[in-house]
Amino acid sequence: MPNQLEVHQVSVAYGNTTIVRDVDFVLDAGSIGCLLGPSGCGKTTLLRAIAGFEPISRGEIRLHGISVSRPDHTTAPEQRHIGMVFQDFALFPHLSVARNIGFGLRHLSRNAARRRVDELLALVGLQDAARHYPHELSGGMQQRVALARAMAPRPNILLLDEPFSSVDKELRELLAREIRDVLKRDQITAILVTHDQLEAFAMADIIGVIGHGEVHQWSTGFGLYHEPADRFVADFIGQGVLLPAIVHDQIRVKTELGRIAGETPHGLPPGSHAEVLIRPDDMLYDESSQRKGVIVQRAFRGAEYLYTLRLESGTEVLCLVPSHHRHGIGETIGIRLQAEHLVVFPRQHTRHELPPDSATARCGTSPHSASMETGP
Ligand code: ADP
Repeated sequence: MPNQLEVHQVSVAYGNTTIVRDVDFVLDAGSIGCLLGPSGCGKTTLLRAIAGFEPISRGEIRLHGISVSRPDHTTAPEQRHIGMVFQDFALFPHLSVARNIGFGLRHLSRNAARRRVDELLALVGLQDAARHYPHELSGGMQQRVALARAMAPRPNILLLDEPFSSVDKELRELLAREIRDVLKRDQITAILVTHDQLEAFAMADIIGVIGHGEVHQWSTGFGLYHEPADRFVADFIGQGVLLPAIVHDQIRVKTELGRIAGETPHGLPPGSHAEVLIRPDDMLYDESSQRKGVIVQRAFRGAEYLYTLRLESGTEVLCLVPSHHRHGIGETIGIRLQAEHLVVFPRQHTRHELPPDSATARCGTSPHSASMETGP
């Protein structure tokens, strides 16, 4: 069985400017992929190329085993059998919910179309709203109608371009999870485009992080967070600090918070300067610990406080502490490093915090996951 979508070394250019460069991935039937990246990095351009709205300048796109885009050929969007969902829903205001959903089913008999509409109304939980009009629905409900309408003709692939942007921020993750369930129940293959990592985590099986038109890493949300392939991904996904380290041997580095041992050789020469990615959840609050940090900043996160701590050397690290442990700025607290996954990069600069411009600071060598060892 062919892959549902194959994107082989695809580049897209506007005039002489290459916007998307050498993107390469495959998506199995029934999987949900996500293109995640900051605004302006080329996500929509790539999605439009997959839909057939943009020609490609290099590579090939295949849908269900059939070549649909090459530099010398672009199959028209309407011949690709693709469903699209946009951020503004684009529902027909003068049509009821049921008629919106059935809009793309005019080739079916009346009965077959009605059956499919009923099936989709049930799938998205809107049976009671079949006769309502779009303006009578909440944003989340409208988005579910848009999804049902795009899914109704059973497209080869469903493309969702920032579909939650017009929905209240608090509801986005919930809606993303709901939509994932709907897609999985109908075994639809889909690609989501978003700049919001929580949406991506809630919805996608596999996520490609894009920066400046290039995919830096394909992985699960877990993999991106705990084993980022380069500084760009480490910076874009989650929060963290790069702690200076000295390479001890092939599997160990030394930091001011102790020695850290990895499982696979990191490839950096002994004695060289490195940096270790420390996530806030790698730092534990431990009253009995000899290692201390002074609280220089704190942010209330509901269940937790996110503390910024200054270590003895002046380096700052982040530490997530259950919020019933309430400490004030200036207070010194005991801390302990406990990381399941540690990531090492060759040292590039002397600043400790991930710099805001690290989007351009790609790391030449892959990082190496490591586990924590109790060290001196
Ligand atoms: P994203 O979806 O990640 O926000 P886009 O794919 O929309 O990014 O845009 C990527 C880059 O391509 C941006 O710098 C944008 O200005 C440029 N761009 C988008 N559309 C066009 C176009 N039709 N002509 C020229 N440049 C474009």
